[in-house]
Amino acid sequence: MDLFEYQGKQFFSEYGLPVSAGEITFTVEEAVDAAQRLGTPVMVKAQVHTGGRGKAGGVKYAATIEDVREHASNIFGLDIKDHVVKRIWIEKASDIEEEYYASFTLDRSAKKHLGMLSAEGGVEIETVAEENPEAIAKVWIDPTSGLTTELVQNWVQSANLPAQAVEGTVRILLDLYQSYVKGDADLVEINPLILTSDGDVHVLDAKVTLDGNSIFRHPEYAEFDKTQTRDERETAAHDRGLQYVGLDGTVGVIANGAGLAMATVDVVNQVGGAAANFLDIGGGANAEVMAGALEVINNDPEVKSIFINIFGGITRGEEVANGIIEALQNVDIEAPIVIRLDGTNADEGRSILHPHLSETLLMAPTMLEAAQQAVDLARKENDK
Ligand code: GDP
Ligand code: MG
Repeated sequence: MDLFEYQGKQFFSEYGLPVSAGEITFTVEEAVDAAQRLGTPVMVKAQVHTGGRGKAGGVKYAATIEDVREHASNIFGLDIKDHVVKRIWIEKASDIEEEYYASFTLDRSAKKHLGMLSAEGGVEIETVAEENPEAIAKVWIDPTSGLTTELVQNWVQSANLPAQAVEGTVRILLDLYQSYVKGDADLVEINPLILTSDGDVHVLDAKVTLDGNSIFRHPEYAEFDKTQTRDERETAAHDRGLQYVGLDGTVGVIANGAGLAMATVDVVNQVGGAAANFLDIGGGANAEVMAGALEVINNDPEVKSIFINIFGGITRGEEVANGIIEALQNVDIEAPIVIRLDGTNADEGRSILHPHLSETLLMAPTMLEAAQQAVDLARKENDK
């Protein structure tokens, strides 16, 4: 779950991190009013779920109220990497002496948390990593022992920040780590972390990704969840309680179980096709769930064929088959469907499906053959 910058700053401030005062606005007039309350100079900042806003003209310094009006008028509606600006954060401007970078994320292969700190902030960290990797001081943190003050002090030393920035940076990194762990974040990033002309270390930008599975521990995250930008397909799936990830291919995939759904996407690739989505309908493949899954896939104009891959475990084959037949009666499906049904009571399930088979409803005995047929059909539909 990605947060907007202003939500990230709200999240950070809960953990004592120093952020600037500001207000979220939805119209030019609101932006002007906010700036009047805060007092100029202010920053006028586009709120979108993507970085590089500054470069795209979405972050502007406003010395006067007139500047605020002008910048807000230009920024509302601006398209930043396919994200249209609908909200603007107005915050009190800071005087920047230097810009740094700080973040925590999970390094899965090391099975540790990874902290990164660089005296070269304000630019994209990927660029620093490419052009000047030694400018990034990294620290790997064992999640069971955590981050000690001593560890942070050594880490900050190795990043070669100026002496006056050290103490403030140590404090911020300790608080940032707390926000990352206690807040169940997957990523917390401050870029830039700044040294102000008054000698304070201060948070100027916030990129926060929260673990969506932790909402049960944080009821307050429901508010962040509401403003998520999902693609239309993902919203439709989310509303039906389905585990769905949109992909770029043409074969719609429905499978039961995340492992089988991933394997299905792989097999579609293996035979030269590409999946339009990952969709796990979970254990119970009843008619309602199946109909919901088919509707979501059917609404995707890129889908040229559908591959239903079910391995019955606790769910029995005849239930699945009945579910598919019933769902097909309720949803008007445009793309041809290939079914592979195996596992518990597969034979019973197949005999239920048999009388319904047609040119647009096929069944294949193995996962590989079904994938091949689905890919061939998608190709044929595409050539039409
Ligand atoms: P991003 O481009 O999406 O990463 O947006 P940022 O919030 O990081 O802002 C981009 C750049 O705008 C920063 O690196 C700063 O150089 C500048 N900036 C942001 N806030 C302020 C501020 O309060 N004062 C000044 N002078 N510059 C700012
Ligand atoms: Mg930034």
